[in-house]
Amino acid sequence: MISLLKKIITILLIITFIIILNNINYNIKNQTYITDNKEIYYPIFNNRYIDNYIDKYLNSKIDKYNNYNIYIDYDYYKENNNIMLTFYEKAYHNNKEINNTKTYKINPKKSEIQQVTIKQEENNINIKNRSNSYKLIAFTFDDGPNHNTIKIIDTLKKYNMSATFFVLGTKAQQNTKIIKYMQENKMEIGNHTYSHRLLTNATFEQIEEEVLKTNQIIYNITNKYPQLIRPSYGSFNKKIRKNINMPIIIWNVDTLDWKNHSSKKIANKILKQVKDGDIILMHDIYSATAKAVEIVIPKLIEKGYKIVSVSELFYYKNIELKKGIVYGNAR
Ligand code: ZN
Repeated sequence: MISLLKKIITILLIITFIIILNNINYNIKNQTYITDNKEIYYPIFNNRYIDNYIDKYLNSKIDKYNNYNIYIDYDYYKENNNIMLTFYEKAYHNNKEINNTKTYKINPKKSEIQQVTIKQEENNINIKNRSNSYKLIAFTFDDGPNHNTIKIIDTLKKYNMSATFFVLGTKAQQNTKIIKYMQENKMEIGNHTYSHRLLTNATFEQIEEEVLKTNQIIYNITNKYPQLIRPSYGSFNKKIRKNINMPIIIWNVDTLDWKNHSSKKIANKILKQVKDGDIILMHDIYSATAKAVEIVIPKLIEKGYKIVSVSELFYYKNIELKKGIVYGNAR
């Protein structure tokens, strides 16, 4: 009896070890490289050959688009023993704009990486069941806008849905056209501070500056003051609650999209966790997030969900949003 137990424990240990080993091999970490005119997100595989290869590829882009602003990010998914990794490149300078995507098939175990061409997935959406009683959830997007925001607005528009974009004052100033595009398409625009500084250790004057400056920038573009705020990092304290004259919106489903640039992972996380009345946190600045929104909306519709902005969510749930109160969901 004891020896049987020993055997079982040994086998379980071996299985655990194999699982851990496999996970180590696929442990992809996001890395960020940001300068005045470059914003680059790329994965680290902890494999010297593959990491060097990606490094070389990125450096060649930096050399090639020498005087351009460069934005590169990525999306990936696992397929059998491989990882399919796509880089989205955007380089722009004055009126010139270059967009490119490159896909690599990577096997970290074998230290293999090769560029592949994949057929553009056909976007034939086929929604099986459409429930007639809607469960409501709010999609919220922070830290934008940038060029990926437009893709997200277009996807939401296609399904006649809305969302709240908590924008940064700095980014709103640089992207007035995208802010206008949000407004034209009935998206809600919220305040996410001016420079994304942590407000919990800021003085009263600094808090006021971060909030009021952003409200004014949004007003100047849209002729409407934002009604909601999400403090940077979702951090707040008594001082912030007392001094911010708006309802404070945080979230209860965190997709961790800033960490996992994988559209499939982001979509699965939402589908696994979502419940009626939830507020979901994403970031509209990433290609993987834009793709995740495309993947997840038809699946949410099948499950009977309707995606709305935060203000709509609370309106339909008959919950009044009050100044200085913090809301993480509408239940
Ligand atoms: Zn943020």
